[in-house]
Amino acid sequence: MSGEQQAYDLICIGGGSGGIATARRAAAHGARCAVVESERLGGTCVNVGCVPKKIMWQAAETAETLRRAQDYAFQPIDPTLDWPALTQARDAYIERLNGIYDRNLDRSGVDVIRGHARFTDPHTIEVDGQRYQAERFVIATGGVPGRPGIPGGDLGIDSDGFFAMQERPQRVAVVGAGYIAVELAGVLHALGSEVSLVVRREKPLRDFDEAIQNAYVEAIGAHGPTLVSHFTPAGLEAGWGGYNLYAEDGRSLEGLDQVIWAVGRLPNTDELGLVAAGVSADERGTIPVDDWQATNQPHIFALGDVTDNPYPLTPVAIAAGRRLADRLWGGQGDRRLDYRDVPTVVFTHPPIGTVGLTEAQARAQYGEAVRIHETAFVPMDYALAPAEDKQRSTMKLVCVGESERLVGIHLFGVGSDEMLQGFAVALRMGATKSDLDDTVAIHPTSAEELVTMS
Ligand SMILES: Cc1cc2nc3c(=O)[nH]c(=O)nc-3n(C[C@H](O)[C@H](O)[C@H](O)COP(=O)(O)OP(=O)(O)OC[C@H]3O[C@@H](n4cnc5c(N)ncnc54)[C@H](O)[C@@H]3O)c2cc1C
Repeated sequence: MSGEQQAYDLICIGGGSGGIATARRAAAHGARCAVVESERLGGTCVNVGCVPKKIMWQAAETAETLRRAQDYAFQPIDPTLDWPALTQARDAYIERLNGIYDRNLDRSGVDVIRGHARFTDPHTIEVDGQRYQAERFVIATGGVPGRPGIPGGDLGIDSDGFFAMQERPQRVAVVGAGYIAVELAGVLHALGSEVSLVVRREKPLRDFDEAIQNAYVEAIGAHGPTLVSHFTPAGLEAGWGGYNLYAEDGRSLEGLDQVIWAVGRLPNTDELGLVAAGVSADERGTIPVDDWQATNQPHIFALGDVTDNPYPLTPVAIAAGRRLADRLWGGQGDRRLDYRDVPTVVFTHPPIGTVGLTEAQARAQYGEAVRIHETAFVPMDYALAPAEDKQRSTMKLVCVGESERLVGIHLFGVGSDEMLQGFAVALRMGATKSDLDDTVAIHPTSAEELVTMS
């Protein structure tokens, strides 16, 4: 079709979680759709996010389990990891997923346009010199890792670089306090690296309930990365013995094999031609949207990590996209994503699960009406472990009012990742503490603590 202009009902810019989900759902409703992708199909989640991360986490959990096997009278095992073999198998798995995404788009009748899209006017994009028009556009270009603008910052790597590492670094600093920082730090620690988790304030995970922050800090104090608090990086240098990371207050971490920046992500809107499209963005490039995913241009929508969405997560981008397509092409006039009560898991060791309001948020919103139920216990997984190896689990329920309606659930401990989803359904349905109390427990599990808490 070179030279000619192709027209669609919908063009999604970005073939990641949000763009693919929107286009396939719109196509199912009969819209003529295309997805433009400049790199590998699947976006961040499949290629440099959730999927490779979960594989590395699973490897790390396996290492931990093998080390604990002797608690159950197995001969001691000191697992040795073949890092190149693991990462090659992981990458082959991802390549298969890339192919599956391609075939699914084909089967759904969605065109895939390969290359970088740029708006030339509000109704036209250009990809490799070819112009395409659409009645509506969805911008789902995601985010990219940020880096601190300090001298030597480029000597470190980011989360994309973590997945490209050819060998496991022995001495490593992971800089950052969010979920990606604690996850990467935990994986490397469990796989045998000496890890410093470097945070600017006292503790990581500051957006999480304080009980979770404290439980995590206590757990890594016993077994985990070394927490380096109040350390604001001022410079990174390559020395004879490795990298040296300097703090503003003069402290340093020296002789590092690798420094990993996990200091936040930036919206991927450079070179997108937002000005030509007439789409507003803030100074970081984030695209603000209304409750219906609309930008200031009524026919251009945005969703996922490129927006001011409070939950930059794959299922959130997917849900926003599918609902948007249902509304615009499926005749479901009120369909949109409600961004409240989104459950999320952090793949630490053990994992964190959280949904709804933290205690602090609930107190700010409901004051005296808040009631907290909290427990800490050693799960049966550690029944035969020596005292110093027993890892405690923590659970907190945040309730409000006479009826004690559940507004927040915060979990830290073995199994929290798989435990949360069902309880998130209950919370969304308006469950109360007495609904939990009236549910017969499943014994012996950690989950039963959620329905037997006083
Ligand atoms: C290390 C890490 C771990 C994560 N773990 C989890 C997790 O466990 N669970 C979870 O839910 N979420 C996780 N996430 C977040 C998740 O990956 C994102 O929320 C999700 O991918 C966002 O989807 P999206 O559609 O907004 O953007 P993306 O998936 O980032 O897709 C955007 C796509 O747009 C393409 N693109 C950008 N600009 C253009 C252009 N101009 N033209 C053509 N193509 C373009 C990009 O190449 C990319 O493929 C993780 C992220 C990271 C970095």
